[in-house]
This record gives sequence, C-alpha cells and structure tokens, in this order.
Amino acid sequence: MKEKVLLVDDSRQARSAIKEALAGQFEVFIEAEDGLAAIKSFVEEKPGFIVTDIEMPSINGYRFISTIRNMEDGRDVPIILLSGSKDSLKKKLTGFNLGASDFLMKPFENEELVARVKSLLRVRNLMEELKEKNALLEKLAVTDELTGLNNRRHFFEAAHSQLALGLRHSFMIACLLMDIDHFKKINDTYGHMAGDEVLRRTGALLRACKREGEILARFGGEEFIMCLFNTSSENAAAAAERFRKLVSEHDFSAISQGLSITVSIGVAVWPQEHVTSIDDLVKAADRALYESKSLGRNRVTLFEYAPGKKLA
Ligand code: GH3
Ligand code: MG
Ligand code: MG
Ligand code: MG
Repeated sequence: MKEKVLLVDDSRQARSAIKEALAGQFEVFIEAEDGLAAIKSFVEEKPGFIVTDIEMPSINGYRFISTIRNMEDGRDVPIILLSGSKDSLKKKLTGFNLGASDFLMKPFENEELVARVKSLLRVRNLMEELKEKNALLEKLAVTDELTGLNNRRHFFEAAHSQLALGLRHSFMIACLLMDIDHFKKINDTYGHMAGDEVLRRTGALLRACKREGEILARFGGEEFIMCLFNTSSENAAAAAERFRKLVSEHDFSAISQGLSITVSIGVAVWPQEHVTSIDDLVKAADRALYESKSLGRNRVTLFEYAPGKKLA
C-alpha cells in the first residue's frame, strides 16, 4: 500500500517546504489549507500520517487534532504539530494534551523532520503489527482448529448475550445439539484421518445452511451445536430435521467409497419451565439427544420436561 501523508497548513509555501523535506518518506501527499478541509481529506483519503500547522482560519490545528483523536480511525495515526516560535512551550503542551504525537518549530531543519517522521512511522508500524497479532489471537481463541467453526467457548459467550437479549425482547431461543452416530466405527473402519475429514465436511455443510445471526459451533469431539433465535419449538424441530436429512443424504464418498453418516439431534427451546440459563438449555438439548440415540439414532427429538426428572 502506498504511504499517504496529509499536510495541513494555510500557507502554500509552508506545505511545499514540508513536501520537499518528506519527498523520500511518502508516496502520496494530500494537502489541506485549514482544519475543516483537513478533516474532510482525512475521512476520504485515510492518510497514515499527518503533519499540521496550528494557526489556520476556520478550524485551527488544535481543534483539528482533537477531532481526529475522537474518530475511531484517527486514534493512532501519528500527528506532528508545527508551530512558529511565539509562546512555543505553551503551544507544545496544549498540542500534546490534545493528542499530538510530536512537535516541531518552524522553520525546521529537513533532517530533523525526516528523523521524527521515521521514528513515528516505526512505532506506528510496530503497533499495527501488534494489533494484527492480537486480532489473530482473539480469533484463534474462539475458533475450532479442525473445522474452522466457532468453538465451545465462543458458543457460550455468544449464547449468553443472546439470552440476555431474548429476556429483554422476549423472543424464543432454540438449541440444537447434534452428535454423529457411531462415529467411533467411522474412525475404526476408515481411519482417523477420514474421521477428521468427515468432521470438516459436516461442519462446512452446517455452516452453509445456517442463517445469518444463528450461532453454530463445534461443541466437542463429534458434536455440533446451534442456537436459533425468534423461533417456535415446531420451527426449531423442523430446522433440525432439515439438518438431519441434509447430512444423511450428503455424499461423503470422496473421502472413502461407501462412507455415509447420520446424526442424532436433540432440540430444546427457551423459555420453558425449568430452563433458566444457557447451561440448562444445553442440558435439555442433551437430554433430548440422548432420547434420539436410545430410540435408534438418525432422528430428532424435542425436549419435553418430565415432572420429577432433574435436568442434570
Ligand atoms: P454414538 O452413536 O452413541 O454417538 O456413538 P459414537 O461412536 O459416535 O460415540 P462415542 O462417544 O463412543 O465415540 C466418539 C468418537 O469420536 C470417539 C473419538 O475417538 C472420536 N473423535 C472425537 N474427536 C475426534 C476428532 O477430532 N477426530 C476424529 N477422527 N475422531 C474424533
Ligand atoms: Mg458424542
Ligand atoms: Mg456418544
Ligand atoms: Mg456420536
């Protein structure tokens, strides 16, 4: 990407002098003659660096800096403030308080401006690297490595906040817990690698069919979990039945000739008596899943509360 700098000064001559000094540091120079034009240019051009004068008509350098620092995109962009010599300490302090990264007096030595720019660019680049690494770590912390789906931890985080929303706006939440039938046999017959590939493909299949906003995660080994929102128990059971059918009819023969799989699904909805948290909802879905297994697998069961039977 081309390194862009925004030069803000009401004197064309001053802008030319800065441009000349920084000719080797930036590829694109955007110029603005006051703070207002500079804010507009910042929004439109997204420069990665700013050099600005203080005294300017309309919006001056101080107001310009504080506006930029209050913008999401402007928090970290390096800003060098330039000033004439009058009352320079006070100006310097005001500038730093408002968020300037550095301060330089006019007239400046070109070498000094270049050195300061280079040092700020170095820090900015390091910070950007750090941000990218953090974003990657955050993603890894909520992603299942094998399937690329969200993991169990993400599921609970997302489901908890959805439950809070559901409470506030009284919409229903359905939880679908699905478990691949006789998966151990798949591993034993076709090998663990084939088993892994089945998990990947099943995950991809579910992801392709889930709707925007629904939560899907790998819950553990050969178990997947989904949360649907604003849905009745009938609709949730129908959705589960669609997923069950989809998996049972999917052609897995690319992994190994003759390989096919089925899933058993348990469905529970909230609100419902004795289900007051996401943990309860998952337990209820697990109970229904157990029913699907006992009734012969490859089927969907809707949780119904049986008096006298505890959830856990
Ligand atoms: P059921 O129909 O009762 O669910 O039988 P099952 O064989 O699917 O269930 P069981 O819990 O006995 O076995 C689950 C198997 O899933 C055992 C375990 O080795 C396998 N498994 C768990 N995680 C992975 C994985 O990441 N890759 C592979 N290939 N196998 C896995
Ligand atoms: Mg299991
Ligand atoms: Mg099992
Ligand atoms: Mg299983």
